Amino acid sequence: MSDVVVIGAGLAGLGAAERLRSEGRDHLILEKEERPGGHTRSYENLGYTFDEGPHVSFTSDEGFRAQLDDNVGGQFETVKAVVNNLWKGHWITHPAQVNLNGLPEDLVVGCVRDFVQAFHTEPGRPDNYADWLLASFGETFARTFPMEYGHRYHTTEAANMSTDWLGPRLYRPEIEEVLRGAISPTPADVHYIQEIRYPSLGGFESFLRPWYTTNQIECGQRVAGIDPEAGTVRMADGTRHQAGSIISSVPLPDLIPLVDRVPADVQEAASLLAATVCVTVNIGVDRDDISEAHWSYFYDRDISFVRTSYPHLLSPGTVPTGCGSVQAEHYYSTKYRPLDVSPQSLIEPTISDLTRIGVLRETENVVFAEARVLPHANVIFDLDRVEVLPIVLDHLRERGIETCGRFGEWGPHWTDQSFLSGEAAAQRALDR
Ligand SMILES: Cc1cc2nc3c(=O)[nH]c(=O)nc-3n(C[C@H](O)[C@H](O)[C@H](O)COP(=O)(O)OP(=O)(O)OC[C@H]3O[C@@H](n4cnc5c(N)ncnc54)[C@H](O)[C@@H]3O)c2cc1C
Repeated sequence: MSDVVVIGAGLAGLGAAERLRSEGRDHLILEKEERPGGHTRSYENLGYTFDEGPHVSFTSDEGFRAQLDDNVGGQFETVKAVVNNLWKGHWITHPAQVNLNGLPEDLVVGCVRDFVQAFHTEPGRPDNYADWLLASFGETFARTFPMEYGHRYHTTEAANMSTDWLGPRLYRPEIEEVLRGAISPTPADVHYIQEIRYPSLGGFESFLRPWYTTNQIECGQRVAGIDPEAGTVRMADGTRHQAGSIISSVPLPDLIPLVDRVPADVQEAASLLAATVCVTVNIGVDRDDISEAHWSYFYDRDISFVRTSYPHLLSPGTVPTGCGSVQAEHYYSTKYRPLDVSPQSLIEPTISDLTRIGVLRETENVVFAEARVLPHANVIFDLDRVEVLPIVLDHLRERGIETCGRFGEWGPHWTDQSFLSGEAAAQRALDR
């Protein structure tokens, strides 16, 4: 019997737990994996540390930032983010819309011409992400860059996506900035992530570790059923927990089938929520001069991965002395692009493509290579989500289950937003 049972020990569950702890409330976190941390877990192998998916902290929430700093005892790196793009053999400083210099003349002319035209066209209310891109950047840029990248990353086309998740993710420049970037080889520095923080040792997960001991967490405990009215949480091993309140960070399409007596229309709604599946290929080499950028975006369909990042540039503590590492992300989704190959089979094409684009050498000594699968990586902001998400959330709210986090609220949450949403869910549970 606990005052509150929290399901999931990722950032959202930990945020909820920390809020409950600060109120002196008895609480228990149940986590299905053998370790807490959720998506922000880090793994060390042969001296190379990789996060489950690449993570950096760029939070602007001062309270959360102070907690992370405190959790690592001030042992973190502060890095000025260097980000670039590869398009048909051209390395372009990010964001491309203000760094067109050096690209083929016809493309630059088309981008500038269409951007000016879009800028002078009164925008209507966009029906979808494609409309928004065309109205914001003009036809040539929108179709060459964000629509291509978006399709690779989100696994569905822009016309099938909403715009409510965008926030500062895509920079909308002034005409002067586009022109200056087309004429001048000196790149403008307007990326929405500027300064990033990363623990000196132990990967991103080090930012969380003290919370593992200040809260009661039971790992290897998969929740298999919930009776919200009775306050019962049933475990896969047959045991039961009684709780005054239940807070869940379980992905909504997985949560709904666990809850007793959910009507068919809510089950149907939850089944339409889609997320990407990410396969990360993690590679360690014995030199550290493999990239100038902390991460890179890839637009060309003949490159197997969509994004790469370089942990050794975040902290030298992630690699053996003098060594380098690269994490490549490949995206799939059950709904739009099923993962129909074995994750391990992506290692070879990743190494071959990294060699083709000049990150690795033909004679590279690959010391370490592995592939990992993240079954829920990013929420897909497809048009179905706009319709069905309120049905699912309203139902859970009515039944008294508080949900939080990226997959409990089914939103674009970064780590700070996930933690804060956990705190907010705990507050709602306390207010009940
Ligand atoms: C590839 C990638 C890169 C990212 N990069 C960044 C970044 O650079 N910076 C940033 O701020 N954010 C980043 N994010 C976002 C960040 O990972 C999330 O905001 C955050 O980790 C989500 O935390 P959460 O607790 O909501 O979910 P999760 O971390 O998924 O936690 C949910 C937990 O619930 C557990 N669970 C699920 N079902 C059950 C069950 N039935 N019983 C018990 N436990 C269960 C899971 O095992 C998991 O531990 C990135 C995300 C991805 C995918």
